[in-house]
Amino acid sequence: MRLGPSPGDTGRFVGAWSDLAGVGRDHLRGGYSRHAFDDAEMQLRDWFTEQATRRGLDVETDRNGNLWAWWGEPAPGAVVTGSHLDSVPGGGAFDGPLGVVSALLAVDELRLRGLTPARPIALACFAEEEGGRFGLPCLGSRLLTGAVDADHVRRLHDADGVSVADAARRIGLDPAGLGPDPARLATVGTMVELHIEQGRLLRAVDPAAVVGVASEIVAHGRWRLTVTGQGNHAGTTAPADRADPMIPAAAAVLAARRVLATHPGAVATVGRITPVPGGTNVIASSVSLWLDVRHTDATVTAAVVDAIVADVRAEAAAEGCTVMVQRESMSDRVTFDPGLGLELSGRLGAPVVPTAAGHDAGVFAAHVPTAMLFVRNPSGVSHAPDEHADAADCVAGVRALADVLETLVGDINPAAGHLGAGDE
Ligand SMILES: [Zn+2]
Repeated sequence: MRLGPSPGDTGRFVGAWSDLAGVGRDHLRGGYSRHAFDDAEMQLRDWFTEQATRRGLDVETDRNGNLWAWWGEPAPGAVVTGSHLDSVPGGGAFDGPLGVVSALLAVDELRLRGLTPARPIALACFAEEEGGRFGLPCLGSRLLTGAVDADHVRRLHDADGVSVADAARRIGLDPAGLGPDPARLATVGTMVELHIEQGRLLRAVDPAAVVGVASEIVAHGRWRLTVTGQGNHAGTTAPADRADPMIPAAAAVLAARRVLATHPGAVATVGRITPVPGGTNVIASSVSLWLDVRHTDATVTAAVVDAIVADVRAEAAAEGCTVMVQRESMSDRVTFDPGLGLELSGRLGAPVVPTAAGHDAGVFAAHVPTAMLFVRNPSGVSHAPDEHADAADCVAGVRALADVLETLVGDINPAAGHLGAGDE
């Protein structure tokens, strides 16, 4: 039986959390912009390295730019926990860093309990989880597990034209080393990622629940549509002479909403649109827009994309424009290890909920038993500055993560007076 959060626990959480508060603030968009390998993300990585080192953990960067901090010698069967330090543009404070901070504090909690792990524990920070810089989410975990072609990744570039290869070089990584890392993957026995809940399903299932356990991630993907027309003068070009790519682009925005009426359970979003050249008195010559589509079933996700693209093509034909469609990423539905989920749900008294948000844990689920814990988010807002979790709930999340780690690693000295647990 555990006591409720003590002032000391909350103080430790608030102390660690305040270290991050000033890093990567986006004064233009609000919230935080921390992108893979940029100054803000590197500052957070340094912070993590310092915190882990202070705890006596051995920190290393793998060949794909993911950070690992080891409690115990790296060896097959390790229990891995962690999350990511990057954000979407103008994102919230909790998405990613909460899982990293909670992992560090869970180590403290386990030591306070006197646990000596029978299996190694690794804390991990995965690179470019949001795809906010290079467009491909879960880049670090996909590279590590071989879920994406390394040559393709090396050629991806950010909005300033910097390639993944150049960005990797800048932080001292050898771009030739990017790619599958089977030896590293073999060390991962079980993966548990703690994350702020994105959405409000937890509250819908149990209004009193502070922590939930994930059952699945729905199928989701990103598509880039490039509509090309004829750049021209906004004042002197008669309506009949226009080939304005913004018109089919507008059709995409509207179709993304209207198509949902015939595809229950699906969501589709145009969250990013870039006209070229982008002048008030200029008819654009081309428009790029990015479509995000999600549904439990990957075939429905594909049908939604097809329906939206059909509307864009029809509008483009009428306007004298052309359309190019490029799939940037696709993640099939992920079901987390049901036995592990049930065990953790029982241990924590936490409800089991699905999510429509992607995570590195979803990438690892194809290889090792994987689970996720969600900490409640009263408003459900995420990927925006208003994202929030109460400190007391975050502390409860740390305790839940510590309970889970304790259950998973076992103790070489279970007579030490705390709740020892079996190895499996
Ligand atoms: Zn996240």
